[in-house]
Amino acid sequence: MTDRKRWEQKLDELIRQKVRVRDEFQCQRCHRRIGSLQVSHYYDRVHRGTRWDLKNVDLMCGGCHMRIEHDKQGWYTDFKRAQLGERELRNLRTRAEAVAKFSIIDLQWLYQKLQREEVTRMIDPIEEPKVDEGTPTEPVDTPPTPEEEA
Ligand SMILES: [Zn+2]
Repeated sequence: MTDRKRWEQKLDELIRQKVRVRDEFQCQRCHRRIGSLQVSHYYDRVHRGTRWDLKNVDLMCGGCHMRIEHDKQGWYTDFKRAQLGERELRNLRTRAEAVAKFSIIDLQWLYQKLQREEVTRMIDPIEEPKVDEGTPTEPVDTPPTPEEEA
């Protein structure tokens, strides 16, 4: 394995550890705490500029991860807007769309920076209707209740 690949894998693993702690080992969509949670990237991993950016990742169970992959403009965008705010969501997009070329030194620097980064809970889970695994359901858009907006 090349050095570059190895550092990228180390960064992927570090992001995974950080986001698990930050999101309290809980799916950010359905709130389940199960063992096999995955790292969801709002902007896909091919965008190197945000691949190891904690603002771009959220912990999801397999079912929710798959569901939002096909509906990034729906719930996931609402979630990111609530989590980051409009301005930071735009900044994230700018970073995702930038052409990022990392040297190995850059990757090492990023690793050290990420290691030091504080992880604190960013948002209370957005309420969503409980999904009954037994019955197929259409995605439902529920307007926020006044309590949630407060
Ligand atoms: Zn879930």
